[in-house]
Amino acid sequence: MALPPILPVDSHTHTRLCRHASGLPLDYARAALAAGCAGIVCTDHVPFPDDPSPAIRMTADDFPRYLDLVADAQAAPDLPPGFVRLGLEADFHSLLLPDWLPAILDRAPFDLVLGSIHTGPHWDMRPDDPRVTPALVLETFRAYFRKMVRLAQSGLFDACAHFDLPKRTGLSIPLADLREIALPALDAVAAAGMAVEINTSGCFHPAGEPYPSLPILQWMRERSIPILFGSDAHRPSDVAQRFPEAFALARAAGYTTYTVFTRRRPAAVPF
Ligand code: ZN
Ligand code: FE
Ligand code: FE
Ligand code: ZN
Repeated sequence: MALPPILPVDSHTHTRLCRHASGLPLDYARAALAAGCAGIVCTDHVPFPDDPSPAIRMTADDFPRYLDLVADAQAAPDLPPGFVRLGLEADFHSLLLPDWLPAILDRAPFDLVLGSIHTGPHWDMRPDDPRVTPALVLETFRAYFRKMVRLAQSGLFDACAHFDLPKRTGLSIPLADLREIALPALDAVAAAGMAVEINTSGCFHPAGEPYPSLPILQWMRERSIPILFGSDAHRPSDVAQRFPEAFALARAAGYTTYTVFTRRRPAAVPF
């Protein structure tokens, strides 16, 4: 008899179709089952028309294959029914996405769409760079969270991925400044009815902790913003990585449930 799952659904995983990850949906799903997850969402990076960087992302031509590979995993006899969900991680391109993303989503019954901002001005800076000033770091974070407001207001996404990603640089800003510039983004996320993931890949980046940090999780909790758990695995062996640490953070912020999206509708699950 199978043991009951002890870890939540892993809501953020990639596949080798994006050309910077290894493994196929079935490999990730089997890894999730072995890890004790309640399920998995495949969220490979959305293809773009005339992609400027086709070497690091699934192309539009690959997209039908992505749908087929996720469907194969969903039909695998060794996995519980409903264990594998279909998702996408979509970069927020404000000009492109309003037409392109809905057309993509029309092609299959998607369960979850993560919204991401992956880069911005000065994201190549590092803490030991003498040109880095506190004002420059603050401006970088501020620009990011301003864009996050527009991401939330676009209405295109179910959840924000890696909410405080600028800390990936290893740089940080004072808590009072973070509060001032992150709260408008959190208010926009709450108004949009979106969730925010706890993304454990940050544990392996210079910040050395999940995205977002505990203070942000506490501000989320005050706004009743639901959470997801996501490993952002780019290898099957990374599925559910550091989830116990993410649990501890979520509990410290006062969370007792997380959210699972099915056909883009949220349902709360106790953890
Ligand atoms: Zn990726
Ligand atoms: Fe991402
Ligand atoms: Fe990702
Ligand atoms: Zn990601």
